Amino acid sequence: MNSPTSERDSAGFEAFGLHPSLLQALAALGYEEPTPIQREALPPLLEGRDVLGLAATGTGKTAAFSLPLLQRLTPGGRGAGEPAALVLVPTRELAVQVSEALHSYGKGLAARVLPVYGGTDVVRQLRRLEKGVDVVVATPGRALDLLQRGSLSLGRVELVVLDEADEMLDMGFADELEALLSELPEGHQTALFSATLPARISAIVGRHLRSPVQVRIDREKVEPGALPRVRQQAFLVSREHREAALVRVLRVEQPASAILFCRTRTDVDSLCATLLGHGFRAEALHGGLSQEQRDRVMKRFKAGTVELLVATDVAARGLHIDGLSHVINYDLPGSPEAYVHRIGRTGRAGKEGVALTFAGTREHRLLQAIERVTKQPIELARVPGGAELRALRLERTRERVLEALAGEGQEEFRQMAEALCASAEPSAVLAAALQLVHAAHAGNVEDEAGDIPSITAPAKAPPRKSRSAPPGWASEGAPRPRGQRPPRPSLGAMATLVVNAGRRAGLRPADLVGAIANEAQIPSKSIGAIQVTESFSRVEVPEKSAAHVAAVLRGTTLRGRKVSVRLER
Ligand code: AMP
Repeated sequence: MNSPTSERDSAGFEAFGLHPSLLQALAALGYEEPTPIQREALPPLLEGRDVLGLAATGTGKTAAFSLPLLQRLTPGGRGAGEPAALVLVPTRELAVQVSEALHSYGKGLAARVLPVYGGTDVVRQLRRLEKGVDVVVATPGRALDLLQRGSLSLGRVELVVLDEADEMLDMGFADELEALLSELPEGHQTALFSATLPARISAIVGRHLRSPVQVRIDREKVEPGALPRVRQQAFLVSREHREAALVRVLRVEQPASAILFCRTRTDVDSLCATLLGHGFRAEALHGGLSQEQRDRVMKRFKAGTVELLVATDVAARGLHIDGLSHVINYDLPGSPEAYVHRIGRTGRAGKEGVALTFAGTREHRLLQAIERVTKQPIELARVPGGAELRALRLERTRERVLEALAGEGQEEFRQMAEALCASAEPSAVLAAALQLVHAAHAGNVEDEAGDIPSITAPAKAPPRKSRSAPPGWASEGAPRPRGQRPPRPSLGAMATLVVNAGRRAGLRPADLVGAIANEAQIPSKSIGAIQVTESFSRVEVPEKSAAHVAAVLRGTTLRGRKVSVRLER
């Protein structure tokens, strides 16, 4: 562990006296330094103190309680259903997420972690409990149920964590929490994390925590005028769509020089590879690079050879770069202060800068905390849809042609143009030439044909119906409903047609646009999202024209073959 590389890898965490295998796990995950909540919460938790942590998802709070929890575990030796640590979370989604985090941090310690939540087969959970577990991560309803069945015992719990305590109360778990907390043995340690501190949380803290150390991350004050003039926008997209969404946003924004921030060096490397694959000039910058390598990257960035710098906060600290057009938070920073720090790199010297942030469903509270600290709104924006990208590409083709027209060197084509125009309608000749120019420059349109589903901040979870209802195996802890996609104001009501031909038949989005625009006489700007899969395609058209378009497509051929078309319900 004492090689120069490993010291650099986990330097930020070493001061806490964590177990070497935890440090190794953090280095392998690419964490370069603790987030603010980790910096504040780790020491008291490692000392065995109770902690009240005011922090939302996205701040790194999971590691803040998981590392001390794992550090404290003495391996094995526990009886069936007698965990040494209990983590209570509001939803099944979070139970899985926290268990995964515990697994990845605790790999080297062979910690046995079991998520238990409602809505799934209880028998498997009972069997796992039987075999013995070190940590149970549970939704309160299921935990209480297992306790009442006698399958779970809390008699040997040394550390209990209440994660997102305010949400657990909002979901109506107050009675379950009280019942569970009253079963814990004397002398156990408690950590309670909550994004907000309503009176009901203070009451739990007063009853169940002993002289807790309070840590919070959103109390920094930002001096008026400290923030530059920056257009701030956020895109709410799920993790699986984040890369595709970023690529689209970059295509539309066309930043001249941007820093993209990722949380870990692993993420930096993988995002950089993706961006290179999409034809962007990107370079990675993180703490794993030697000084010489970093200098080389910075030289290329400053010279403009590289337009996108993908970096961790640590690597970007202390860099003096002027005139950045964009700061992009591909991952949310761990605190509002870090956000202010990041976006301060754009919008300098009287120029308006742009700060774009990508966030997931559970991270909207951190976005709100950032707004509170900066006292500036962050506008929720929509990821550009397939139709917008197509329109943008067409516009670029138009600009290319106009630029060429203003330039020189067309003499050798003039004769050909005149001959072609003598043999066919000039506008048809031009359209054919434009089609070729467009095809040569437009890039991979297929990847970007459809729309990326955006998510909305979760509405307040509805309280559970009644505590006295029979144990709710089916509903308790189930994922909360996703928000509806925002309406598309520009396109009006749309209907989706499904065509039984896709990539295998050689079909491209352009073929559908061509057929619909030319044969059904629907302006291409009215066509919505297009999705071409291996064997079929979907296209959105104005609802009022759907039947007509379907009939026209049935009557024509696409890539030389007849197709069947149906209206998707
Ligand atoms: P959480 O707020 O616990 O949900 O964490 C948000 C994200 O930050 C997760 O993807 C973690 O893996 C990541 N993360 C947590 N701590 C760090 C750190 N010190 N450095 C980099 N990434 C981190």
